[in-house]
Amino acid sequence: ATPTALMVGTGRGAKMGILIKNGEVLEKVNEVKTVMFDKTGTITVGQPKVTDVVGNRDEVIRLAASLEAASEHPLAIAINQLAKQDQLALAPVQDFKAIEGQGITGVVAKKHIAVGNQRMFNEHQVPNELTAQATRLQNEAKTVVYVGVEQQVMGLIAIQDAPKPTSKAAIAALKQRGLKTVMLTGDNQRVADAIASQVGIDDVIAEVLPSEKATYVKQLQANGMVAFVGDGINDAPALTTADVGIAMGAGTDIAIESGGIVLMRNDLRDVDRALSLSRKTFNRIK
Ligand code: ADP
Ligand code: MG
Repeated sequence: ATPTALMVGTGRGAKMGILIKNGEVLEKVNEVKTVMFDKTGTITVGQPKVTDVVGNRDEVIRLAASLEAASEHPLAIAINQLAKQDQLALAPVQDFKAIEGQGITGVVAKKHIAVGNQRMFNEHQVPNELTAQATRLQNEAKTVVYVGVEQQVMGLIAIQDAPKPTSKAAIAALKQRGLKTVMLTGDNQRVADAIASQVGIDDVIAEVLPSEKATYVKQLQANGMVAFVGDGINDAPALTTADVGIAMGAGTDIAIESGGIVLMRNDLRDVDRALSLSRKTFNRIK
């Protein structure tokens, strides 16, 4: 493409709130075969809310919120919102620790408390009744947080983060072009599958550690160029590893720095609009 065509293309993008860092990025977009998406804050709204509590509601929320007060995870924010709304007094926490891809632990009133997913607990520490409830909630696309005291699970908290209203249409448009769509998330497999089927995503890679995300991008690069769409929370390495990193404008500063494209309107349909723009720019001059 001529420098003028590239300038026109990137200029048109800017008018639509699609910031393209340079002409090389615009050219690569044309070659993309797979579009990978982060889940939380990219496909979903990113404002999870507690929907169900299994066990002694006030006690489960009070303990979990006390520990989560030290965490900035979206799940932590949801739990603390409910504790505040229910006016529950939080307890002081000692020895707070975060365990990657699992959850958090700490000591409250001299007892070891663990708040996180099933991986934090051995199977025999979870009563069958709670396991059945967890499965039911996960199939409803709700993330289940287990609350354990001295390694004994005493309750569950179900947290829902709905897909953005435009996610389904955005993914349909990409599939229409013959592109493969993949969701990459640290969340539970069942929850991820439920969200994927709500929005029409082809493939799901779930229960991935933040440190593993870039590796999955590399794997899919065997099938051609990969675009990764994310908000920068946990996924900045995936954004930089992808051939085209697409950052949500409402995402973190790291996302905006890592992305070759920034979607200022936070509308996932702008991924398809960026593809159109690239096609028009490069077909015109060939
Ligand atoms: P993602 O941002 O893709 O969901 P994370 O690695 O942040 O991935 O989290 C993966 C999973 O680990 C979560 O779905 C949750 O089950 C668990 N987890 C992580 N942090 C916390 C936390 N602060 N409280 C409860 N669970 C957590
Ligand atoms: Mg995210």
